[in-house]
Formats: sequence, C-alpha cells, structure tokens
Amino acid sequence: MSTLDLRSVSKSYGAVLAIDRVDLKVAAGSRTAIVGASGSGKTTLLRLIAGFEAPDTGAVALNGKTLADQNVFVPAHHRHIGYLPQDGALFPHLSVERNIGFGLARDIPGRDARIAELMDLVALDRTMLKRWPHELSGGQQQRVALARAMAQRPQLMLLDEPFSALDTGLRAATRKAVAKVLSESGITTILVTHDQAEALSFADQVGVMRNARLVQVGSPAELYARPRDPATAEFLGEAIILPATLNAGWADCCLGRVAVDDATRSGPAQIMLRPEQLQIATDGTGCPGIVIDIDFGGSTSALTIQVAERVILARCTNAQMPTVGATITMAPTGLAHVLDERI
Ligand code: ADP
Ligand code: MG
Repeated sequence: MSTLDLRSVSKSYGAVLAIDRVDLKVAAGSRTAIVGASGSGKTTLLRLIAGFEAPDTGAVALNGKTLADQNVFVPAHHRHIGYLPQDGALFPHLSVERNIGFGLARDIPGRDARIAELMDLVALDRTMLKRWPHELSGGQQQRVALARAMAQRPQLMLLDEPFSALDTGLRAATRKAVAKVLSESGITTILVTHDQAEALSFADQVGVMRNARLVQVGSPAELYARPRDPATAEFLGEAIILPATLNAGWADCCLGRVAVDDATRSGPAQIMLRPEQLQIATDGTGCPGIVIDIDFGGSTSALTIQVAERVILARCTNAQMPTVGATITMAPTGLAHVLDERI
C-alpha cells in the first residue's frame, strides 16, 4: 500500500510557480529523497505535505485519506506528520528536555520516560537532558530536533536539508544515524536536499526536482545509470555525454563503437557514460586520447582527455595515473545510456 500519494499538485506564490503538477507516491516504511537545486521547490513540496500550505490544484492523500484537495484541508496538527525544518530550530531558551517534550502534554503518564526513550533512540546520553542547545554540537542539536519531531510518533517524517549545516564527516555520520533511527522505527521518510550524493546514499526512492517539476523518480541506481535527460545526468554526478549514431543496440561515437542500453532507437542521439565506466590503459587497446590535465583527488583523480576534437572527463586510481601529455587508450565497460532529448 502506498502511504503518501500526491496527484498533480500545483502551488504558486503570486506570479512564482513553486510546484508544478507534481505526482509522487511514497510507500509505507520507505525512504524517499527529493533532490534539486536551490529554489526548485523542495521546501514548498514538504510544506504542502505537512499542511503548512494548501495546494492550488491537485490532491494530497495519506493512507487513502484525503488531506488536501479542492474541498478538503486537514490542518497540520491533525496530520501526524513530523517536520524537521531546514535550520533545525531548537528553542534556544529551553533545555534539551523541554525542547523534546515541547509537543507532549504536561500531564500524560510516562512523559519523562518517553523523553528519555527518545534520547536513547537518537543515541544521545540522557545526562544531556539538562543542557541548553548552545552547549551541544551541531550534530547533537540536529538529533535533539529529530527527537522532538519524533515525540508525537508521526507516521511520516519530513526532513528539510537537515544536515546541510554540518561539516562533511559529521554530515555523513549524522545522516546514517538518522536513517537508522527512522527505519528501525518503521517511519516513512522524505528527505529533501540539494546534495545528490546525500540523496543517492539515503533513499530507496529518489526524485529529481527542476523548475518546480519532479522530472524523474526511481531507485538511486536506476537514476544514476539511466537519467532521462542531459541536465538530470549531470545533476546526479559526473557524466560523459557524447553525440552518437545509434543502430540496433550499438552507438558509434568518438570513443568508437559502444554497446547501449536501448536497442530500439536508431539514428542520431546523445549517449552518456559515467567516468568510472572508462577503463584507462597504456597497452594500446581501445580508443586513443591525450591527457591534457590531471586534477588530483586523493583516492581517484580526474583526467581531462582530448579524444579527436572532443574533451572528456575520466577517472583513474593513483596506481594507474598517467602524466600530462601522455597518450593513453580508453575502453568503455558496461552499457552507455541513451538520453531522451524530447523533454
Ligand atoms: P527550495 O526549497 O528548493 O530552495 P522553495 O520551495 O523554498 O525552494 O522555493 C521555490 C520557489 O518559490 C522559489 O522561487 C522561492 O523564491 C518561491 N517561494 C518560496 N516560498 C515563498 C513565499 N512564501 N512567498 C513567495 N515566494 C516563495
Ligand atoms: Mg528549501
């Protein structure tokens, strides 16, 4: 059963179309990431789901119950949806304990035990309950904000770029910790982010937003390997996009003849390879190219290679690293993806 169902939802702010006919289904217990550049409509989408905004057209339903359409609007506090806003937003004048307990009625039995349990859930030591937000690290503050959002036992949790203020190492660790807490609690989760690596690593289902539209939805592996169009391909990672001529499952391009993932199309098209699909060799097999630049990157380095009149990007490990000016050869592995130019 699909937990959340958005059907052709649109929302404008005056003349700005922030969400344009978005369809989205999110399965119970799953993790979805919506990735898009700043201003593409991610926060607005979450606010429509949470009930802080009403759609102009379209419908939002949760577990088969309509939350918003032309006739119905269930207010946010009746939706059982948790929302972790972009800035975390702990109350600075309240202790950790009072922040987490903010939405819990004062007289419910077992209130203190519930707050302690929430601390355990987000892996924070109970001794921190008496601290103030400014006495916590950025990652700890985000976990307190998550505990507060989970206090009401939401059936759906919305995370709005909750890790973007944290530095790289802490961001990955906090993201993993949060993902674990939410999946162990069986809470359906939607994360929005501008960080494609974060989206691909966090979710079972990824949606790409561009200019208020959800342009493609699929599994992380599917989106990375088979993006619909060149803009989506480049947004999700480094891409080698080449003009080619297709025929019966093969493409002729500057790298020679390459197998492609669509045998039904023929004639001119654009194909895409990910840099890791290009094997660099010096033994003379494959297509020749000249290394014109090397960008050292630690475990792998980026090579800029001149192939005939084109310049392409490849990656190599340090053990394989050629020198600038060297002639190398490249052989594509796996299938090149045929991009759709009709959209
Ligand atoms: P994102 O979260 O992807 O950065 P937003 O959903 O915040 O994008 O914004 C989408 C578009 O809607 C942007 O052009 C933004 O300027 C506009 N917008 C968002 N909120 C408002 C608002 N309250 N009033 C007017 N315009 C808004
Ligand atoms: Mg936003």
